[in-house]
Amino acid sequence: MATSTDPSPEPAPAAALERRDALIAQIREHRYRYYAKDAPTISDAEYDRLEVELRELEERYPDLITPDSPTQTVGSGTTEMFEPVVHLERLYSLDNAFSLQDLTAWWERVRGGLGDHDPELLCELKFDGLAIDLVYRDGVLASMATRGDGHTGEDVTANARFIPAIPTTLTVSDHGDIPSVLEVRGEVYLPLGAFDAINERQLELGRSPFANPRNAAAGTLRQRMDRRLADLDAALGKAAATQKSESTAKADTRQERLRSEVQRASDNLAALQLVVHGVGVMQGRQVVAQSQAYSLLQKWGLPVSDAVRLVRGASGVEEYITEFEAKRHSLPFEIDGVVVKVNEVELQRQLGATSRAPRWAIAYKFPAEVVTTTLRDIRVNVGRTGRVTPFAVMEPVRVAGSQVEMATLHNAQEVVRKGVLIGDRVYLRKAGDVIPEVLGPVVEARTGDEVAFQMPSHCPSCGAPLGVEKEGDADIRCPNSQFCPAQLRERLVGLAGRGALDIEALGEKTANALLDDDIITNEAELFDLTAERLLTSSYFVRAPRKGEQGEQLTENALALLEHLETAKERPLWRVLVALSIRHVGPTAAQSLARALTSIATIAAARAEDLESVEGIGPVIAESIVEWFAEPWHGEIVNRWAAAGVRMREQVADEPQVLANVTVVLTGSLDGWTRDSATEAIQSRGGRVTSSVSKRTDFVVAGESAGSKLDKATALGVTVLDAAGFAILLDQGPQEARDSQRG
Ligand SMILES: [Zn+2]
Repeated sequence: MATSTDPSPEPAPAAALERRDALIAQIREHRYRYYAKDAPTISDAEYDRLEVELRELEERYPDLITPDSPTQTVGSGTTEMFEPVVHLERLYSLDNAFSLQDLTAWWERVRGGLGDHDPELLCELKFDGLAIDLVYRDGVLASMATRGDGHTGEDVTANARFIPAIPTTLTVSDHGDIPSVLEVRGEVYLPLGAFDAINERQLELGRSPFANPRNAAAGTLRQRMDRRLADLDAALGKAAATQKSESTAKADTRQERLRSEVQRASDNLAALQLVVHGVGVMQGRQVVAQSQAYSLLQKWGLPVSDAVRLVRGASGVEEYITEFEAKRHSLPFEIDGVVVKVNEVELQRQLGATSRAPRWAIAYKFPAEVVTTTLRDIRVNVGRTGRVTPFAVMEPVRVAGSQVEMATLHNAQEVVRKGVLIGDRVYLRKAGDVIPEVLGPVVEARTGDEVAFQMPSHCPSCGAPLGVEKEGDADIRCPNSQFCPAQLRERLVGLAGRGALDIEALGEKTANALLDDDIITNEAELFDLTAERLLTSSYFVRAPRKGEQGEQLTENALALLEHLETAKERPLWRVLVALSIRHVGPTAAQSLARALTSIATIAAARAEDLESVEGIGPVIAESIVEWFAEPWHGEIVNRWAAAGVRMREQVADEPQVLANVTVVLTGSLDGWTRDSATEAIQSRGGRVTSSVSKRTDFVVAGESAGSKLDKATALGVTVLDAAGFAILLDQGPQEARDSQRG
């Protein structure tokens, strides 16, 4: 068996090299869509498959691993937006069954594992939502976190009080039998009616609608309600202190806007529903069966689905599946399958878990649905990097719970490969949260009036002649990256994304209005926007209300101006992401910002200098050099800098007491956020890594530290608490170690 210490790993064949490059490109693209645009185009499961395949490939051929490979960089389920929370007990994912055969095979394994015993099975619906972990201490909600990578999730506790479906205190019965610590797992989801309402509001505000209820639930839950409230409080406080009447009027509009933002956000949160489906830690209380746990949770006031059912044998499971597959589209919420669990806890224990999933449970996924509809047209879309993608425009049709009228066709070769003609009746497939796919034509239905698609020779947005970037490319591009309105719009929306400058008010519609009404002609002018400029576009103007003089800016326009001001203060790495340099995502940008500390240094760096930065490979380095060589790119940087956008890392004048010291942070540390602790270490010359190894000098462990703490203890790495951490920062490693011994 090959291990990482194997002295002579197999050399990688050319095909493996090619596959690796393709996987890396896809993973980067999907990370960008997920983190920066909040608009993923593939399901998490599909994304996971890409990462797993890459990891397996790299394990087999270790010489393929590059430092900038996504497997070497962090892509966990958490982001810098929220504080990390280490779950008390790990949240496993479930293995999937994609057919009844898969399910039968699982059932046979279970019976085999239990010595031919036929265990009672519990069937429940697989809600298409967002997994969360709730911790109650003495019956009071202590934390609410997203699933994250199963070990560590994002702390969204501050939002819990806006979600009536999540009890903040448990119902105590006469017996006072609530465990002192209770960890509950569940799914937060949006009923279809609420989903439609949220999307309507998104559209009213000129923001992009969510693709499906699951994305909408995630977007709703993962917002910083605490920040919105703090902004409002600050505005109210400021208003109270203001005397002059003129600025009072301005402050009033701002307050009103912030207030309606808070109202909208809390309305959306209130629409979220919860269904619980498991327990983690349950201190001082034993249950013998999953069904018993559910009864208890229900008694304590937690919502359990009424579709939970106990069945016997494979036939019982099949019956349950058949029933709900037929009902699924008449339910008021989306489900994408059925979960089957061995009911008895003792038997669950006997079966145990593999490294990634319990053996006693399985998720049966409903098969993808296929429908037919008419292909009305094939049009093309121009992306952020100029890539031209054909997409199908169809007679709207309902499939897998959503109304579909468009589907990507990827590239011209794909259209040919599928053999579809405009006017064809086509097969369309969609499964759950996956994007719809045109499979091919219903050839028998042809009338002879169908016409073949012709890839346009000129850009539909700017008219520039289209072409491939280099010989052999499947993709055709618009070369007019500076002025092409479609590319400009995509770049504007991209730079406003959460993984970049996080300018919430700058969505697709707003970007369109800015460009269509010539308020700005390119991204270089973005930070020069003024209220006067915005007043020239009808999109940003509303009629005066009673007592107001003349036309007024809309709520969204005011928010845009304010968000742009905030964006100027964002850290350097976000500015780097916002420049839309190909291959430079958050991870690469953070490395660059740390190592080179200013845009000027990065712009002046040669490829070799850039490659010496950790996490920057030749492809990224070359792409950066090329980007800065373009004069109009330099103009963007200059204009932004002149407008006050931060162009350098905040300089640290801290003594470099932590040079060559490697620290791992785990748990939540009093008085520190993960970001501020990391910054404190880095500004003193230290390194922060995510996993504990023999090379780790210190593990700083806060409250609810998990497996990293265990590993540190096992490896004999010095563990510091908050006090020890303070000594480390002030006095250095020797003193910190001494403090722990004393
Ligand atoms: Zn163009």
